[in-house]
Amino acid sequence: MSPLQVEALIKRIEQLNPKLNALIWFSADSVRRQAKAIEQLSGARGPLWGVPVLIKDNICVNGVPATCASKILKGFTPPYDATVITRLKQAGAILVGMANMDEFAFGSSCEHSCYGPTHNPWDLQRVPGGSSGGSAAAVAAGLSALALGSDTGGSIRQPAAFCGVVGLKPTYGRVSRYGLIAFASSLDQIGPFARTVSDAAALLETIAGFDPNDSTSAEVPVGAYRAAAAKEVKGLRIGIPKEYFADGLDAEIKTAIDAAIAWYRSAGASIHELSMPNTEYAVPVYYIVATAEASSNLARFDGVRFGHRAEDAGTVLDMFKKSRGEGFGSEAKRRIILGTYVLSSGYYDAYYGNALKVRTLIKNDFDKAFEQVDCLLTPTTPTAPFKIGEKTDDPLTMYLSDIMTISANLAGVPALSMPCGFTKSGLPIGMQLMARPFGEETLFQAGGAYERAHDWNKKEPAL
Ligand code: GLN
Repeated sequence: MSPLQVEALIKRIEQLNPKLNALIWFSADSVRRQAKAIEQLSGARGPLWGVPVLIKDNICVNGVPATCASKILKGFTPPYDATVITRLKQAGAILVGMANMDEFAFGSSCEHSCYGPTHNPWDLQRVPGGSSGGSAAAVAAGLSALALGSDTGGSIRQPAAFCGVVGLKPTYGRVSRYGLIAFASSLDQIGPFARTVSDAAALLETIAGFDPNDSTSAEVPVGAYRAAAAKEVKGLRIGIPKEYFADGLDAEIKTAIDAAIAWYRSAGASIHELSMPNTEYAVPVYYIVATAEASSNLARFDGVRFGHRAEDAGTVLDMFKKSRGEGFGSEAKRRIILGTYVLSSGYYDAYYGNALKVRTLIKNDFDKAFEQVDCLLTPTTPTAPFKIGEKTDDPLTMYLSDIMTISANLAGVPALSMPCGFTKSGLPIGMQLMARPFGEETLFQAGGAYERAHDWNKKEPAL
């Protein structure tokens, strides 16, 4: 960015962020300093050189607070960079700041944040989705060109759909999780947000790849994602799983997805209806596996090494209890209680053990589907963005907003959400593409071709 562009970005953030509450940590001086410093970087200038990238508040940046939007981590400043951050810095990207999120990434609305909710740029009364709501809203509103989020059950794709931007959850193992504060370690992936498919491809090319610091990162070469985004779809086999079009799907979303399917057919792709019969178990399986892993990951926040410590505790045990009682919000507590319960002796086999078995059945559905087709096309969400406050008293309804995104995490497959229309009242609609493990290039190919033939991402929210 030129000095003028840097000042324009800072001004836009200072003007619009009070309305949106998308950034929870921002320093104009830090942005100015980075923009100057990259001039000194030697080496070739890649596509991310000078490009602003906003970071979700659960990714560690050396010297910048990372709180997971939780009181329990207030005051914690990581002493190291996550691998994705090291790679962004090497590429000359400018880290804009930290983005609001649901506490510890628990949620679908960005309302469970100790900093208050983020607002959807298309309608400030509505949620931006979650948990990476701040990242999605900021990219939609032009407060950053790109952003990073994390996706455990839909936290990149659902907010991307709600905010009318592109979001991608990579294959499990594609992007290093080193420096990502863990929610559910067998499901979490960091991924990109962007206004266009090829911008998301450029960001993924930069952050993806093997990392010896993450034992689950895969030694699979990083694909040519930007090149894939420029390809056509003639001959591509697209599967339409009927379970994603069941009752509860909003009629306007169904119409938009049907139109996208018709476009793919007209562009020379073949369309195959198929069935993924275990889809209905994804939400219950996820809320066992994810909460079990979360209860274990969150045990480390006890007031001893980092973050909030209760003042007036008498004994060590009392200090643990009070620190955790004061530091965690209500959704985090609900998850810890659920997760501890399903792992407890006498219940472990009935809940956690069985959930793992059904997880394998869900994975088998994907394996079978990918014997017939190259990618799957579904809606990203069953409804358009809902109103702030509409679902906060009803966790189950909130959990159901991820019914279409969770399976990809359980199976470990890559999935992309991109804009495919607007409702009559002007709210964005997202479609989801899923591919076989490490099939990100197929997603960029299918997404890029569709994007070139449509202009949904040319529309901007009136702010
Ligand atoms: N909304 C889902 C949940 O509440 C997924 C969150 C995520 O992907 N981090 O767990």
